[in-house]
Amino acid sequence: MSIAAQAPAYIRAISPYVPGKPITALAREMGLAVESIVKLASNENPLGMSPKARAAVEKAIAGIERYPDQFELIAALAERLGVAQNQIVLGNGSNDVLDLAARVFLAPGRSSVFSQHAFAVYPLATMSAGGECIAVPARHYGHDLAAMRAAIRPDTRVVWIANPNNPTGNFLPYAEVKAFLQAVPADVAVVLDEAYNEYLPPAERVDTVAWIRDFPNLIITRTFSKIHGLAGLRVGYAVASSEVADLLNRVRQPFNVNNLAIAAACAALDDHLFIAESYELNRRGMEQIVAGLKRLGLEHIPSHGNFVTFAVSDGAAANQKLLRQGVIVRPIGGYGLPNHLRVTIGRETENLRFLEALEISL
Ligand SMILES: *Cc1c(COP(=O)(O)O)cnc(C)c1O
Repeated sequence: MSIAAQAPAYIRAISPYVPGKPITALAREMGLAVESIVKLASNENPLGMSPKARAAVEKAIAGIERYPDQFELIAALAERLGVAQNQIVLGNGSNDVLDLAARVFLAPGRSSVFSQHAFAVYPLATMSAGGECIAVPARHYGHDLAAMRAAIRPDTRVVWIANPNNPTGNFLPYAEVKAFLQAVPADVAVVLDEAYNEYLPPAERVDTVAWIRDFPNLIITRTFSKIHGLAGLRVGYAVASSEVADLLNRVRQPFNVNNLAIAAACAALDDHLFIAESYELNRRGMEQIVAGLKRLGLEHIPSHGNFVTFAVSDGAAANQKLLRQGVIVRPIGGYGLPNHLRVTIGRETENLRFLEALEISL
């Protein structure tokens, strides 16, 4: 038998994650100049990184021969969130902490529950740990929490909830999430993925971290990849009860977040001006793109993130036409939405380029 056949069947069954097409890849394929390409495919921050974070990275290069020390970032997050330091677990992106949660609580013979059209990493992390996936049909493209509660089996050990969800942008009212936590058995971990939390209007945000006191099975994940603009550095974190954080830390690589990422994240956390600018740019850009989609007669799913998903008659064909015009968006057939495309909110000029190219692509 071949060496590949030696991998467990559950590993061989994994379909690889398909990332947004990199600018350099499209430039090579289409013979386009890198500068002429607009990439609105991976929910990256169109303003780049925070200037304070950039300065911190430049300074941190001086100590790059040393192994990283996570203390400063953990202390800053614990203080900001009002939790103990032993409740914070850093990740190489929040993707890393999702994987840690799967490795801690899942194994062959166990299952996890998530919604149809939810983030692609939930089935990936589940299958990597040998767990079985229970995908629950969505309601109006969003999580159907009642159906998800009903789908929990005796062998279920993790429920994944993205709020707001990617790629649909749906937002679950906090009261519904809390009622769900009350209804879920205490021996099932609930991972509440809040990667887009900072794009919610501040007045609408609720301190979900405070719920951990009542729900020691709650794991909240957040990231520096989105509003903080550090996707390429890879840094995110989980907040959990100290007993769950302790387990996550046992399977974590000791040096999973690098020196530059730690320094940048510490600085980004305090760059309130950059965060406010990013929020405001997103709010205006969302209005611009939604108005443009309406003008083109295209239905969209109202979004609470930094992206919006809209319907076209043929997602793959429209995507190809956009690519030929140097505009990269995200086809989401892999999320069960073959006739939708997801576009990240960009700068005003990028949004305009996208809308013009889209009009020609329909
Ligand atoms: C972007 C995203 C993440 C964050 O990924 P990182 O690994 O932190 O870059 C997590 N969850 C969802 C739903 C996302 O869209």
